[in-house]
This record gives sequence, structure tokens and C-alpha cells, in this order.
Amino acid sequence: MTCEVFLRSNPSTMAITIYQAAWVLPITAPPIPQGALAIADDKIIFVGAQAEAATQPRLQHAEVIHLNGAALLPGFINTHTHLELNFFRGFLEDLAFREWILKLTTTKYERLTNDDLAASAMLGAAEALRAGVTCVADTGDSRAAFDALRQSGLRGVAYREVFGPNAADASMSLEGLKVKVAEMREEETELVRVGVSPHAPYTVSGELFRRVVEYAAQESLDVCIHTAESAAEENLLRDGSGEFAERLAARGIEWKAPQQSTIQYFAALGVLDVAPLLVHCVRVDDEDLALIGKHRARIAHCPKSNAKLGHGIAPLAKMLAANIRVGLGTDSVASNNRLDLMSEAQFCALLHRAASQHFKAPGAERLLQMMTLDGARVLGLEDKIGALEIGKQADFIALDLTKRHHQPLHDVMAAILFAATSDDVILTMVAGRVLFAEGVIQAFDEPEWQTRCKRLFPQPPSF
Ligand SMILES: [Zn+2]
Repeated sequence: MTCEVFLRSNPSTMAITIYQAAWVLPITAPPIPQGALAIADDKIIFVGAQAEAATQPRLQHAEVIHLNGAALLPGFINTHTHLELNFFRGFLEDLAFREWILKLTTTKYERLTNDDLAASAMLGAAEALRAGVTCVADTGDSRAAFDALRQSGLRGVAYREVFGPNAADASMSLEGLKVKVAEMREEETELVRVGVSPHAPYTVSGELFRRVVEYAAQESLDVCIHTAESAAEENLLRDGSGEFAERLAARGIEWKAPQQSTIQYFAALGVLDVAPLLVHCVRVDDEDLALIGKHRARIAHCPKSNAKLGHGIAPLAKMLAANIRVGLGTDSVASNNRLDLMSEAQFCALLHRAASQHFKAPGAERLLQMMTLDGARVLGLEDKIGALEIGKQADFIALDLTKRHHQPLHDVMAAILFAATSDDVILTMVAGRVLFAEGVIQAFDEPEWQTRCKRLFPQPPSF
């Protein structure tokens, strides 16, 4: 299917453009066969059947783009990534969690410059756009992802990380964070916001957690934390044992185990009071989920990363039953190894169905909602994105469903969830701007950034 027409139809030069497709999936309404989506500038102005669009006087002179055989749906929302770590795909295989973290941080700090991280993040942005992702919640300890989001045209939140397991260093760590965040906030845009991320309970002292959430509340900054991810983390908090405890002791850092779960610990520290975005939540029980629900905190579910690192399976069904807002996240390519939310959703469906021995836990419709509207709710962006509705931002994608692996096509939602791959994405648009079409990233020079990356890791790549 050709997308040539996309390239001359950028709405910045067109008043109204209508995209006609075999299906339009608004997400908040059933799929529309022979559907149409009309946009003006950065907004959606019509969603419905093509026959209905033909009766609308204001659409009579619009340019019409025909996408026969395609499905239009809201862009995917990846609620947890680390774009700056795109260099690390395949670099940290089959390591225990502590060794995995040590090798990652040592390599990052000893081998990579800020320019390298910028190149890594730009390739991460390209990978996301190619996979139909239009919004990213990224966590990083450089500003590389923040810059990549703005340069690539993606929408998103860049959570600036802070570390500091030694309580005595809490003031210094917070002051450093404030300087970095202030600098980034001056460059926030309509599409890209800044948040903060005290990394995890095993890298951030209780004192630093308290201070960061206090600062975040004062400054209205969203907070994101790696939470209840591993057995090592649980052991550290429950009884001060395990590999993280050993690591802290080896560094001469005093640690007194709170003898609580991570969620109870966060509740006691006041961390849950800012309703943070909690990444992972693999090791949570019913009481923890009740606390998360009570505080209106949100969860980024990253099933592939959790499985690949051997951490386990997060209790998704219980999270959803508790009405907790849950989005899907890929985590970084260091633990995935893709930034592909379609692959993530397919894995999520199969994993939880297998584990629960239930044929529909979760169903295709729910997964598509998690990839779009639920992700928007997790990021507080549901008024702008996550569904194809009049007045919402024109953040949408087109999937080519004419390929052999889609024939015959009896159920469009099942086709997208279980048969489609990210290679079926033929168009990615954010705020009415075409960012990916014709197999090419439109917003920036992807090959140039690839060349910069090859300088760092000349072996392989062999294409
Ligand atoms: Zn992460």
C-alpha cells in the first residue's frame, strides 16, 4: 500500500483532510467499517462512516486520502521507556539483575557521552514512531530523551531520574535534580512535559524519596518510580537481605529494612500521596493494590521486561479489577529488546491467558484500550489523546491489513492484536503532523543518527 499521498497532505498546508479506511477504531466506540477520519490542523473534526462524511457540508472540499484495506486507530502510548538506552540492545543478555544494572550503569558512565546518549535516544524515537507509538513516558538520567521527543515530534513525558541511596546525600541529590529539571522546564512544549523519577527503593534513600515528592508536589511535577520489580528489591525491604543489601553494605551505605512491601514503604514515606506512576508492580499483594487504588496511583505494566529478566508476572487482572489505571510499557531495549507496543500487547495477552488458564484474560478489545486510552489516562492526557473523537488531537496511525498474514480477516481487533506486526504500520501522525510514512521517518534524518551510533558500537552491526 502506498503512502505517497501522505507526504503531500501535511495538514499544515491543508485546511481539512479526510482519511478513508477499511476500518476506523475510535476505541471509545465500536470499529467503524468503511470509516472516515477528518482532521483540521492538529485536531480531529469528524469520525464516522464514509457515507456519513459525504453528507457533511464542511467536508465537501476536503482532500480525501484513500487507505483501502487499512485500519486507523489512535497512536499507541508507551508508558515506560528509556530511549537513551537504545544502544544497549543485546548488550546485557542473561545476567542476574544486579549484574545487569551494574554493567549498564558502568558502561553508560564510562563509555558514553551526552552526545552518544542523544544519538541513542533519537534512534529510540525512530523505532517508536515506526511501531506506531505516538506518545512516550520516558525515564532517564540525562536529557537525551527529552530532546529526542522534541526533535522527533513525539508527544510525551520525560521523567528526569535522581539517584542517591545514602540519606546523607539527599540534599545534594535534590539540588542537582532541581537544576536539571529547571533547565528542561524552560524548554517544555505543548507536546513534551517534564517529570521526575526517584529511580527505585534500592537506589534512592527514604529521605531522598520524601524530599523529591515534596518538591514534585510544590512544582506540580509528575512522578515515576520503578516499583516492586524484583525478589532482590523485596528482600532488601522485608529483611535487609539479598544482593541489593550486599551492594549497599559494600559501598558502606547504612540500610535499615522497613520490613514492609515496597508499596507499604511508599505509603509510609508519603510517596503515594503524589499518585505516582509506578513501573512494574510485579511483587504486589491485595493490600498493596488497595493502597495503590486508594491513592489513585497508576501502573506501567511491562510484561516482556519482567519475563525476560526473570522477575515474574505482574497481577494485571487484579489491577484492572481494582480499577487502577494501567498502561502498557516496553521498558528499554536492554530488557525487551524492542520498543514495540504491538509486540508487547500480544505477549501480554498470551502470557496472562496462559498463566490464568482463561481464554479472555485479557481480551483483544481491552488490550487495544490499554495501548491507547488507558495509556492516556495513566499520563493524565485522556482529554487530548487515546481515542479518535471529535476535538481530540490528531494523534493516529494507519495499519496495513492487506498483507498475507491478515487473510482472511474476520475480526479486526483480533487481527491487530494477534496477527499484525509493527511492520504493518504505514503512517504515524502526532498533532496532525506526519512523522512516519512511506517507510521513512519524516521528522528527522534517521540515517545520520544511525551513523553516529555506529561509531560507538562498530561491531557488529551486520545488516
Ligand atoms: Zn525502566
